[in-house]
Amino acid sequence: MNYDYEKLLEKAYEELPEKVKEHKRFEVPQVQSIIQGKVTVVQNLVEVAKLINRPPEMLVKYLLRELGTAGSLEGQYLIMKGQFRQPQIQEKFESFLAQYVLCPECGRPDTRIIKEDRITLLKCEACGSRHPLGAIRAAPVPKRSTKPEIGEEITVQITQTGKRGDGVAKLGEYIIYVSGAREGQRVKARITGVQGTRIFATVVEVLR
Ligand SMILES: [Zn+2]
Repeated sequence: MNYDYEKLLEKAYEELPEKVKEHKRFEVPQVQSIIQGKVTVVQNLVEVAKLINRPPEMLVKYLLRELGTAGSLEGQYLIMKGQFRQPQIQEKFESFLAQYVLCPECGRPDTRIIKEDRITLLKCEACGSRHPLGAIRAAPVPKRSTKPEIGEEITVQITQTGKRGDGVAKLGEYIIYVSGAREGQRVKARITGVQGTRIFATVVEVLR
């Protein structure tokens, strides 16, 4: 009977020495997804995250960032705004694997993410190697396409207070020092100076 044959194979496999087992090929999990109107649903998000031994939230964060969209976990599903075809999602999933799961030394997926002296490392359980890992960052702030110019008016949210008491805001790669503005305010400001990525401005109007 087929069943017995399978059992036999399984038993034979169990008896193989560890070294041989290690070479069993890792099968890349396949993401299952479907486009439903204006959203895309990844139906097995939690399952694939489990297969690669990573928290679903970590994978979700990565996929959303890479696909440049918003979304959330709903039970087993990841629901994302926008229409994404399976190969597109699969490609991002595989780049996640390459960066955060597969051992760069031996290619095995049996890795853990550990922290040592504030450095995040990918530690391989199979070969013992350790590699520093680039932490997953939030979506980069879009860069301004044009260089700001003196006299130009910009609207910014003041998020910090500078050393000289100026309000400090960030806009793309630029840091804006707004004199007369306070932390928490949203202001319209006129640019009075540009030094590299530092912009100096004065308040024209406090919006709220
Ligand atoms: Zn390894």
